[in-house]
Amino acid sequence: MAKILIVEDNEMNRDMLSRRLERRGFTTVIAVDGGAGVAKARTEAPDLILMDMSLPVIDGWEASRQIKADPALAAIPIIALTAHAMTSDRDKALKAGCNDYDTKPVDLPRLLGKIEALLGKPPSASPAPATPPASPAPPAPAS
Ligand code: MN
Repeated sequence: MAKILIVEDNEMNRDMLSRRLERRGFTTVIAVDGGAGVAKARTEAPDLILMDMSLPVIDGWEASRQIKADPALAAIPIIALTAHAMTSDRDKALKAGCNDYDTKPVDLPRLLGKIEALLGKPPSASPAPATPPASPAPPAPAS
């Protein structure tokens, strides 16, 4: 069962997303600010992260950068969520390392399509592997 980390400071959005995703068979964990989002990416090892961009403590762009800069976390797909349907926000999210982008209010079927594309399978498929394969060691320098 895929586990999704929802990083969202708005309680109503958070509860709504969490409830609707759990109804579809996902396990969800939540973080209420960017710092907690980075911390929970480490402790919860989610299969995917839904990242609000406008967050207290550190914003979603910075939290995404920190997650993507950490080799232990970089493989976790991140979908950025913002209230602004502006191309500049999309580009900014992708530059921060986010794998995809969607706008709020969330269109659940559309968001589920993006989640499943990044997970590579529907949530009802066989259980996810316990841990993603370790990233390959860098090539040895020529001697
Ligand atoms: Mn927010």
